[in-house]
Amino acid sequence: MKRIIFLSALAILLFTNCKNDQSQSQTTENISTLSKISKEQHFAIVIHGGAGTIKKENMTPEQEIAYRDKLQEALNVGYKILEEGGSSLDAVQKTINVMEDSPLFNAGKGAVFNSLGKNELDASIMDGKTLNTGAIAGVKQIKNPINAARVVMDSTRHVMMAGKGAEDFAKLNGIEFVDDKYFHTEKRYNQLLKAQEREKVTLDHSAMVTKELIDDHKYGTVGAVAIDKSGNIAAATSTGGMTNKKYGRVGDVPVIGAGTYANNNTCGVSATGTGEYFIRTVATHETSNLMRYKNLSLKESLDNVIKQVGDLGGSGGMVGLDKDTNIAWSFNSAGMYRGYKKSNGENVVQFYEE
Ligand code: ASP
Repeated sequence: MKRIIFLSALAILLFTNCKNDQSQSQTTENISTLSKISKEQHFAIVIHGGAGTIKKENMTPEQEIAYRDKLQEALNVGYKILEEGGSSLDAVQKTINVMEDSPLFNAGKGAVFNSLGKNELDASIMDGKTLNTGAIAGVKQIKNPINAARVVMDSTRHVMMAGKGAEDFAKLNGIEFVDDKYFHTEKRYNQLLKAQEREKVTLDHSAMVTKELIDDHKYGTVGAVAIDKSGNIAAATSTGGMTNKKYGRVGDVPVIGAGTYANNNTCGVSATGTGEYFIRTVATHETSNLMRYKNLSLKESLDNVIKQVGDLGGSGGMVGLDKDTNIAWSFNSAGMYRGYKKSNGENVVQFYEE
């Protein structure tokens, strides 16, 4: 009899435990589905179209409309990809393509000239999930350098390719080429002539970037950072560099951690400005580190790094977003073409200090 009572008690105990386990695992499942859904609802993209002496008094209403429309078009392209469940990598690449194809920005079509009157373009892209990255430097005939950077990331075991080798490789991979005349725009050529004229009268010929050139400069580099429905962050940047730069000069844009950085654990950031200073401060990686090791917010980190850039004599700005879809930017120039669009309906485009 005792044995029967003992066995029944054991059976009841086992049954209850099993039910508890079941409901516990159901609760865990419910929580993870809920957090997945709430995470999936948030996605965002932030862009810049360069920083510099962008002042209201220097802009005509027509110019304002042209920049606003193009920035909005670029944002919309990336946003749509994210909305349809696409990856942040595709979103930043396609967004940058819109700006590379416009003469308004110093990337692709509107690239500035170096001291020899040639265009040498740089670009990079980074995946915050895997820390994979691809960069391209000093290419002369690639219509959309960001596409070549993506191919370096996706199809090689390298992270950066430069010059003729990079172009040969891009050609083999079906990247679109253009005649170098494609990059010749009147506006950029006049900027070169003006910069060279200034250089002649600048006393400090050895300075890499003179104060006058910085003041005169509207950088125009383009960048994009996005977070997709899976919480993956990507960042990308594309540029023609600095007007009147020395032939062969490579700026911050293709240097990972300087002009571009993305890490799902912290943030994604893209920079624009006098590239040498963004390399020296390892600006975008420094931003991520300040978040990671000092627990600063994205905005505090960006401000801190822009101050470091400014203290060395550099000028420009950065845009970024963090893993919680917060968006922030910082710049020490008069203005920066910038904007963002978030899944919560926020949509902002700005040029000047606000
Ligand atoms: N950062 C770029 C470079 O130094 C220039 C720019 O942002 O316009 O190449």
